[in-house]
Amino acid sequence: MSDNPPTRSPQRLLQDIWGYPSFRGMQLPVIEHVAGGGDALVLMPTGGGKSLCFQIPALLRDGVAVVVSPLIALMQDQVAALHELGLRAAFLNSSLDAASARRVQEQARAGELDLLYMAPERLLAESGQRLLGQCRLALFAIDEAHCVSQWGHDFRPEYGQLEILRERWPEVPRVALTATADIATRGEIAQRLLRDDARLFVSSFDRPNIRYRVVEKRDGRSQLLQFIREEHPSDCGVVYALSRNSVDEVAAMLAAHGIQALPYHAGLDARVRQLHLRRFLDEDSVVMVATIAFGMGIDKPDVRFVAHLDMPRSIEGYFQETGRAGRDGLPAQAWMAYGLADVVQQRRLIELGEAEDAYKRLSSAKLDAMLALAEAADCRRVRLLAYFGEASTPCGNCDNCLQPPQWTDATEQAQKLLSTVYRCRQTSGTSFAAAHVIDVLRGKHSDKVRRYGHDALSTFGIGADWSEQDWRVLLRQLVAQHLLEVDSQHYNVLRLTATSREVLRGTRRVGLRRQSRAPAGRGRRAAQAGTQAAPLAASDAPLFDALRGWRGDIAREHGVPAYVVFPDATLRAIAAARPRDLQQLRAISGVGDKKRDSYGESLLRLIAEAGEPAAEP
Ligand code: ADP
Ligand code: ZN
Repeated sequence: MSDNPPTRSPQRLLQDIWGYPSFRGMQLPVIEHVAGGGDALVLMPTGGGKSLCFQIPALLRDGVAVVVSPLIALMQDQVAALHELGLRAAFLNSSLDAASARRVQEQARAGELDLLYMAPERLLAESGQRLLGQCRLALFAIDEAHCVSQWGHDFRPEYGQLEILRERWPEVPRVALTATADIATRGEIAQRLLRDDARLFVSSFDRPNIRYRVVEKRDGRSQLLQFIREEHPSDCGVVYALSRNSVDEVAAMLAAHGIQALPYHAGLDARVRQLHLRRFLDEDSVVMVATIAFGMGIDKPDVRFVAHLDMPRSIEGYFQETGRAGRDGLPAQAWMAYGLADVVQQRRLIELGEAEDAYKRLSSAKLDAMLALAEAADCRRVRLLAYFGEASTPCGNCDNCLQPPQWTDATEQAQKLLSTVYRCRQTSGTSFAAAHVIDVLRGKHSDKVRRYGHDALSTFGIGADWSEQDWRVLLRQLVAQHLLEVDSQHYNVLRLTATSREVLRGTRRVGLRRQSRAPAGRGRRAAQAGTQAAPLAASDAPLFDALRGWRGDIAREHGVPAYVVFPDATLRAIAAARPRDLQQLRAISGVGDKKRDSYGESLLRLIAEAGEPAAEP
C-alpha cells in the first residue's frame, strides 16, 4: 500500500479533477473526517456542495464507495458527470438491463470502481447484500438521508431498513447527507444510520444568491406570465402549483405565450413525465410547471427561478422548493404570489385531512409560521433562517429589504371590519362573505345590501376612504392571524373568532402591511441586476452564446445534460477571460485536467474564431 503520497490530498484532488480553486464551507472538515474513517451527518442547503463530501473521501480511501440515492434519473446524471471528470463510477438500479448490471457488479468486485450508486431496494435485496459482501468497501454515503425519518415529509420505507448497514459493516464509515434541517429529523437519522460517535456538520442554510419575493395575488397566472416575460424570458425555471389541473392549465397558458413550458405531475403518463424531465434537465430554457411531486434532488444547477402560484404549507417545504433555484451560486429568484385563498385553502386541507389531532395541530402551527413569513414586513431571509435556528441581519436581497413595505397601525380599521361582520350577522341571523362585508363598509348600495337592509347599519359607509383592495389586504392579514375566520365549507362566510374580541375591545393592536408600488420600469432593471452577479459584458455575450451552442452539441453527442459538460458559471468565466492556451484555460474554475484534455483544443479554437471583443466605448 502506498503511504498517502502528497498528490492525494483533498485539495489536490479538488484542483486536478474538479478544477475548483478552494473548498466551500464545511467541505474540507467533512472530507477529512470521513476519509479518516469517521461517521458524519452533513446538513447543507441545496447547492451547498454535498456531493464532494463523499466523492473526495471515495477517492482517498481504498475500495468502492457505495452511494445510496432514492432517485433513478439523478443517479444516471451524477454518474455521467463523474465520467466527464474521468472518474470510475457506475450505478445499479432497475433501469439497467441484466447484462449491464452484471458488468457493473464485476467491476465492483474487481475493485475497478471508485463510486457505485445504488437504489436502496437494490442494496437491500439479497443479491445486493451478497455483492457488497464480495467488495472492498470504502464508505457508505446516504444521500437525502431525511427519507429515513418517519416524521419527515419524504419518508421512504426502504430507507428505514438501511439500519442493516450499521449492523453488517460496523467498520465501514458512513456519511448521511440532507438539506432538511429540523432537529427531530437529525436525531432520527443519526440514531438509525450512524455510530454513536458520529460527528454532526451543520453549515449555514443561507442561500445568499436567491432573492425572495412575495407578491399579493390578484390574477396569479397573469402575474406569473409577466414575471417570466420581464425578468426571465429565456431562463430555466420551475413553477409550482397545488393541483394537477392547474399545472396543466398554467403550462398550456405559458406555452401559448411562447414560453417553453412543460407540465409535470403524477397523473401524467410515466413516459411523458420522463420525457419532460429529460428535456428540463438537458435543455437550457425549459420552464417546468409541476406539483410538489417534482423536484426532490433535482441537481440542475442553472435553474434561475422558482415560482409558487400557491403557498406551500410549511417553511420547510418553501425552503426546500425555492432551494432548487440557483445551485450554481449565480443570482436566482424565489417568487410567490400569495392571497387570501391560499390561507383558506391550506387551513381547509388540514381540517379535512384524516390525520390525528396531534398531527393537525403540528400542521397548523407550521402553516401559521409560513403565513407569518408571507405577511412579514421585515427581512424575509432573517425570518427564514431564524426558523432553522440561525441568527442573521437584514439581507438586502429580498423584496422587503429592497422596497420596504409601509407598516401602519390599522387597529381602528380592523375594528370597523370586525364590527361590520358582527352587525351583519346580528341583524340578519346569518353570516356573509368578504365581498358583501366590504360593500357595507364602503357604503355601496348593492342589491344584497338593500335586500338585507344593511344600509341602515351604523357601520354602513364608515370605510369609504379605503379601496376594496385595501380592505382585502387587511382582511387577509386578519385571517392569517386567526382574528377572523373564513368558513370554506359554507360559502366562504366570515366569522369572528375567540380572539376577535381582543381587537374590538382595543386590547390588541393590528398592524397593516402595504406593499409599496414599484416605480414604473423598476422591475426590469432590478431583474437584470439580479440575474447577473458578475454581469457578462455585452461584448462577451456573443462568445458566451457560441459556447452554449457548442456545449449543447457536445451534450447531445454524449447523451448527457448540458450542465454536466460545463455549468453556466464556467462558460461565463471562459467568455470573460478568453484563454489563449491550455494552461490559461485550466486556471478557470470548473476546468479540471480531464475536461482540459477532452475539450481544451476545441474550446481554444472556438475562442480564437470569436476574435477579440469589440472595444467598449
Ligand atoms: P448539493 O448536493 O449540496 O445540493 P452539489 O454537490 O450538487 O450540491 O453542488 C452544487 C454545485 O456546486 C455543483 O455544480 C458543484 O460542482 C459546485 N461546487 C461544489 N463544491 C464546490 C467548490 N468547492 N467550488 C466550486 N464549486 C463547487
Ligand atoms: Zn432581506
